[in-house]
Amino acid sequence: MLIGNRLKNKVADIVNNYLEKCLDDPLYITKKITVMNDDEEDYEELTTISDYKNLRVDIKIQDGCNQFCSYCIIPYARGRISSRKPESVINEIKGLAEKGFKEVVLTGIHLSSYGLEDYSSREQAALRTDDGSMPLLKLIEQIAGIDGIERIRTGSVEPRIITEEFVKRLSECTKFMPHFHLSLQSGSDGVLKRMNRKYDTMAYEAACDLLREYYYKPSITTDIIVGFPGETEEEFCECNEFAKKIGFSAIHIFPYSVRKGTRAADMPGQLDNNVKGDRAKRLSETEEKLRLEYESSFDGEYRSVLVEEINEIEGVRYAVGHTEEYVKTMFVSENESPGSIVPVKMSRQRLNNTILSEC
Ligand code: SF4
Repeated sequence: MLIGNRLKNKVADIVNNYLEKCLDDPLYITKKITVMNDDEEDYEELTTISDYKNLRVDIKIQDGCNQFCSYCIIPYARGRISSRKPESVINEIKGLAEKGFKEVVLTGIHLSSYGLEDYSSREQAALRTDDGSMPLLKLIEQIAGIDGIERIRTGSVEPRIITEEFVKRLSECTKFMPHFHLSLQSGSDGVLKRMNRKYDTMAYEAACDLLREYYYKPSITTDIIVGFPGETEEEFCECNEFAKKIGFSAIHIFPYSVRKGTRAADMPGQLDNNVKGDRAKRLSETEEKLRLEYESSFDGEYRSVLVEEINEIEGVRYAVGHTEEYVKTMFVSENESPGSIVPVKMSRQRLNNTILSEC
């Protein structure tokens, strides 16, 4: 039985129906069944299934991708962009706020394309709308109006979405947290071109500069693939240097792995696993240094922390949570409980790899 990717919430019904038919007709089991939805462009409504201690919740609002990066199978496997209707997202978040959730993280396969299926293909490709409505921004502004929701974050977004108008309006939305996961994938322009990414390092850097103009020490995190086909040692070094130049607060590093059916799978210059491993290790060293530098840069400053859990270490009660920039911190506390948002004074001291602070 082959079931369309956008019918996940109907799998149980489809299988039950099939089993009933098999009971009536034992030969039915030999049939090859294909069930697809009528319109593969539709967004499949799925509500939340993951959450973090009833405080923070990931909400998927978008599916599919039109970008066709040369290493990625997603546009073939998940199809074109489709978005969850704003009313549906708002209703679900209102219900979660009533249950006590404080923080939402909007996620999607290509979040920057949220709501763009209603626009021209030129606008979709540019991740811009001529009428300036920017559906993702409008949705964030609507969510900010929900009582009880204190913090809004997004998953990965593309640097191209970071325009002056976008950042200016976003920065006026005080519930939106200063943490931006901007997919980079490579810090070498040659590699970015072969990856069929639609920006270069100069545009990426300009997006980061814009964020730093509107936010105080925003957290800028990213994904980088090392060992892409044909990546020379020089290109890798460019990438490593670019990561230092941007000053990421965290980097998710992936050694390139072949996806059958993608253009990159057939590119010349496939690299040996040892080379990929070595580059991942060297970039990890850069990452660790940058992350520690970023976290320590708040030494002596007050940040606001959402308490997520209470841990007892050697008889001492600690409240543990994240700052607005998503820096994990813990502080000695007699009475704070999960869900409270408190100002703390950060330090550079660590306990169990977590920054210590004082309330
Ligand atoms: S890497 Fe991201 S942007 Fe590129 S094709 Fe895959 S899902 Fe789309």
